Amino acid sequence: MIVVMDAKASARDISDVIARIRAMGFDVHLSEGKERTIIGVIGRGRPIDREQIGLMSGVQNVMPVSHPYKIASREYHPDDTLIPLNGVQVGGPDLAIVAGPCSVEDRTQIIEIAHAVREAGATALRGGAFKPRSSPYSFQGLGEEGLKYLADARAETGLPIVTEVMDPQAVPLVCQYADVLQIGARNMQNYTLLHAVGESQHPVLLKRGMSSTIEELLMSAEYILSHGNMRVMLCERGIRTFETATRNTFDINAIPVLKQASHLPVIADPSHGTGKWEYVESVSLAAIAAGADGLILEVHHDPENAQSDGRQSLKPEKFAALVEKARQLAPIVGRQFPVRETVR
Ligand code: PEP
Ligand code: MN
Repeated sequence: MIVVMDAKASARDISDVIARIRAMGFDVHLSEGKERTIIGVIGRGRPIDREQIGLMSGVQNVMPVSHPYKIASREYHPDDTLIPLNGVQVGGPDLAIVAGPCSVEDRTQIIEIAHAVREAGATALRGGAFKPRSSPYSFQGLGEEGLKYLADARAETGLPIVTEVMDPQAVPLVCQYADVLQIGARNMQNYTLLHAVGESQHPVLLKRGMSSTIEELLMSAEYILSHGNMRVMLCERGIRTFETATRNTFDINAIPVLKQASHLPVIADPSHGTGKWEYVESVSLAAIAAGADGLILEVHHDPENAQSDGRQSLKPEKFAALVEKARQLAPIVGRQFPVRETVR
């Protein structure tokens, strides 16, 4: 349930409503928007008499939330959530571009790619140190050593780091290095991990599970939000279908559906969404046109010899060409590219 306060409600009106709800055994989550404050009623207390709350001073409306997710819903938080990342307000008009290799392979590799994506206009650097691989015999990532190389790349380029955390116990360690914690598709419903990243209060990029519905993605986001961590970006990365021409089927529909259902920023991952570098540019442009707030792209200077996902990785020149096209497309669809200094 949510309580929509009148635009003219006083601070006292708001605190009275909160006290009444708490007295009934519920938790309260506040959304202070541009227009008005909305009070989210969270938890399982005794049934609430909606009419009673509706009669309180300053209350405009009391509504049941029609979805199983609440804090993630637009009903509860009508304004777009903005998440700062290297001068970009992700979720606002600026497009965010996160780019880098699938895996951190060595120090030289990550630093070389970081410089290349920085020059082409990337907002942040991606790179996995802890890799969720389908086979236990595939490269599993460099672990903490990889995180240290990412920190070196950040020191050299100024790019913030987006990197995956797979294990709840590793959250404090990864938080020491990462600017954004990535939750991979395979862990979207790892609830212990979702609680841990929620507790951390670190920004999160939450990927959609490969066989998960949009509603399940939003429920997973709700786990993180329910810890008071509001800095969650949703990521469409392709789903499993009967189609075999591409690695996954990028669900373009998910972008407008998520933007309507939720206030959280939506990032598109056409690299995993297609699995083939030659389709990445078209799907990236389509995602921007569909309303994505940003892209996460795999870039590698030597994709033929990459330790993981070389087939879907763009060479730096191809990445730069894609960024240029995205820059041209942006104003046509009401978006912009952040203007940033080029040297740091
Ligand atoms: C990745 O980003 O390299 C990755 C493993 O992605 P996903 O979890 O979407 O498969
Ligand atoms: Mn990958």
